[in-house]
Amino acid sequence: MAAHQEKKTSEERNHKGTQKDTQTSQVQWGRAWEVDWFSLASILFLLMFAPLIVYYFIMACDQYQCSLTEPLIDLLTGNKHLADIWNSTPTLTYRAAAIYTLWVAFQVVLYVFIPDFCHKFLPGYVGGVQEGAVTPAGVVNKYEINGLQAWLITHVLWFANAYYFHWFSPTIIFDNWIPLLWCANILGYAVSTFAMIKGYFFPTNAKDCKFTGNFFYDYMMGIEFNPRVGKWFDFKLFFNGRPGIVAWTLINLSYAAKQQELYGQVTNSMILVNVLQGIYVLDFFWNEAWYLKTIDICHDHFGWYLGWGDCVWLPYLYTLQGLYLVYHPVQLCTANATGILILGLIGYYIFRTTNHQKDLFRRTDGNCKIWGKKPEYIECSYMSGDGTKYYSKLMTSGFWGWARHFNYTGDLMGSLAYCLTCGFEHILPYFYIVYMTILLTHRCIRDEHRCFSKYGKDWKYYTSAVPYRLIPGVF
Ligand code: NDP
Repeated sequence: MAAHQEKKTSEERNHKGTQKDTQTSQVQWGRAWEVDWFSLASILFLLMFAPLIVYYFIMACDQYQCSLTEPLIDLLTGNKHLADIWNSTPTLTYRAAAIYTLWVAFQVVLYVFIPDFCHKFLPGYVGGVQEGAVTPAGVVNKYEINGLQAWLITHVLWFANAYYFHWFSPTIIFDNWIPLLWCANILGYAVSTFAMIKGYFFPTNAKDCKFTGNFFYDYMMGIEFNPRVGKWFDFKLFFNGRPGIVAWTLINLSYAAKQQELYGQVTNSMILVNVLQGIYVLDFFWNEAWYLKTIDICHDHFGWYLGWGDCVWLPYLYTLQGLYLVYHPVQLCTANATGILILGLIGYYIFRTTNHQKDLFRRTDGNCKIWGKKPEYIECSYMSGDGTKYYSKLMTSGFWGWARHFNYTGDLMGSLAYCLTCGFEHILPYFYIVYMTILLTHRCIRDEHRCFSKYGKDWKYYTSAVPYRLIPGVF
């Protein structure tokens, strides 16, 4: 919608101002065409070590009560050999394979075969067929937004099973956690490899493919922009949102059930993790149409980074706090629990309000009110690969006037709150805040590089008007 408005505006106006800048940048925006040595080294590092990092964390919980140092000490002192640790690791089981296959198949059915009905009765919810942003080749894809519905159906069934049907134990996810890890890896590698082959031989939109000539970079960062099977099965929307993010809240519920089984009670820290992360997940699905305009969908190509990352990294490492609390049930005093809840809610408020302000601004083409006033903005223009000139606006009002990525700041505050629920005995639960800080700082830099390539000197005007990235006055 916004893309059409921008295009229409462009047709109605004279090409003026930054024509020269945007012409030089037209072939550059979107993912890189060339690979520098630093990117290549980072990619090789991640391809080799990311699966090991996930294994190490989950194994440390399973065999060492979530201590990250003890396995290393055991290995360095010769107390244990790698083979001992590996031999104590649960293997792939038929049961886990069956659970995982059923899970993914169920999410595919919900995604492909049940058109959204939530938007028909939930006021304010945007679901059903929605348009994504304009791609570098000038394509505007349509998406069936039915994630909230998939999440609701899945969770209603989960609770119906837990309290009424008793088909399986609610601890099923925790009880099969490592065997399920092997299944998630198989799917993650399979889908990334398939996406790569598809990019070469039968891409959905050849003009939006990018080949750097470097096998590892292309495998990691993806070739195709929006790979699809058929008209509607969009890889990015499916793998980003489901099965990983729908599973996130179920995984936490399974951890809570395990605490109940082991200790006869669920601690307030576990409830806080379930509530705060539940709000974040529900927010994601409530705003799934908005998600079409985020970097994952608008700018990233689909490779191992998204394919394996969504299948393995996200469900296993984003849920470490709940897993930790199964091994170390922390009961927080009321003051600490309240403080953490307030930090998490303020973080969420900043995250949501900032994202909402941009969405509203872009949807209405600036004809809206931000904090009761007409928004201020910088006009900018860019060109797609087919030579069409588009106009856009960068808002400098509201939270977007405080910092260029204040939504990330809110996200980081929320992330810190999840970690704090676990107390200070171990560092494992703090992995999430460390990772999110690296991810979102890198994302700032990556996004700003792309925006500069896209908007040229207009982007410079914007960064002079809003000089800070994450924390006003500091960074
Ligand atoms: P943004 O939603 O901030 O989108 C960045 C894009 O917005 C830019 O590329 C530009 O796109 C546009 N833009 C930038 N500045 C302005 C402005 N002043 N006015 C209008 N438009 C602007 O980033 P993300 O997609 O990375 O993040 C979305 C949310 O998702 C964030 O809140 C983030 O915290 C969260 N997130 C969470 C992750 C997790 O793992 N939990 C991972 C990644 C993100 P254009 O080309 O259209 O101008």
